[in-house]
Formats: sequence, structure tokens, C-alpha cells
Amino acid sequence: MELILLGAPGSGKGTQGEKLAAHFSIPKLSTGDALRAAKKAGTPLGLKAGPLMDAGDLVPDELVYGIVEERLSLPDAHTGFILDGFPRNTAQAAELDRMLVRLGERAIDYAVHLHVPDEDIVKRLLARAHKEGRADDTETVIRHRIDVYNAETSPLLKFYGAQGKLLTVPGVGGLEEIFQRVLAALK
Ligand code: AMP
Repeated sequence: MELILLGAPGSGKGTQGEKLAAHFSIPKLSTGDALRAAKKAGTPLGLKAGPLMDAGDLVPDELVYGIVEERLSLPDAHTGFILDGFPRNTAQAAELDRMLVRLGERAIDYAVHLHVPDEDIVKRLLARAHKEGRADDTETVIRHRIDVYNAETSPLLKFYGAQGKLLTVPGVGGLEEIFQRVLAALK
């Protein structure tokens, strides 16, 4: 099972991705988590990515390709994987397709889109920033992240829709309720 999770920041990709990974016993890769770890560790990658992440912008595509290909090459990803936060634009989606061919003639099965209205997203992200003490996560940065999603990432809905791979699931309600919707869509 090769899955991509699509949805605005705060739409629940991380949480639902964890549940899916446990359910199907396959790994989940979050490029955002990997970049945050690199930033925290102060690696060259983290130093380059940090300011862009803080501003709510995407980092250059080339910075994430290595992270993804390396992780998907590991043996535990051979039976499947869940991608959270990658691809983020159509160039990354095309590169992912090429990567999967290099990794053994594989392809994405489905792109699961967790759909949450913009205003709910702002509320969720503000609550999260407050809870995690992310004072730099201001409403301006949050709104910018949503704009970046709408401009750069949402075209992927068409990209996967045209391939018959898009499954759109309402991402509002209880975590378990949403998870059951995702499982039902995948059946
Ligand atoms: P996320 O946790 O997925 O929202 O990612 C946090 C931040 O990491 C994003 O706002 C981007 O700056 C960066 N990032 C994560 N994944 C990607 C990606 N696939 N392409 C470019 N930037 C990314």
C-alpha cells in the first residue's frame, strides 16, 4: 500500500498517518518532521531549511528529495509506506513517480485528501501553536502557510484526481471517526 496524504497544514495528516501506519504495518514518513529534526540538530540541511520553515515557505525541492528517497529505500518500506507532507507541488509529485520507478517499478496507489475548511484550519493551528508554545507561529505565518498550500500544493488534487487516485475524506469530527472514513474510502 503506497499512500500519500494531502491536506492543508493542520488537517490531521500526521495523526491519521500514524493510525494508518499502525493499521497497515508500514512506515510513515513526514518530511516536516525530518526537516524539524535537522533544524534542531543544526545540520547543514537544517540551517538551510530553518528560516524558510519559520516563514511558512516551502524549502527548495532538492532539499527534500534525498530525505524521501533514502527513507523509501529502506527494507521496511518495500511493502508500502505513507507520505505526510510530500509531495508538496507538482514538480515533487513528478519526481516521486520517477523515484518509485527507480525503487523497483512501483507507483502510488492512492492520495488521501483530508478536507478541512480554511477557517477551521486557522483555529486548529493557532490552538496548536499556543499549546506547543510556538510563539513564532503567528496568525500571519499561519495564514501564509495556508496560502502556500492553496497555491502550490492544492494543484496536486487535480494531478491525482486525473489519475483516478484521489480519495477525498472530510477531515472534521473525531479522530476515530475520520480514521474509519479513511479506511472505508480505501476499501
Ligand atoms: P509540515 O510539518 O509538513 O507542515 O512541514 C513544515 C515545514 O517544512 C513546511 O512549512 C515547509 O517549510 C517544510 N516542508 C515540509 N515538507 C516539505 C516539502 N515536501 N517540500 C518543501 N518544504 C517542505
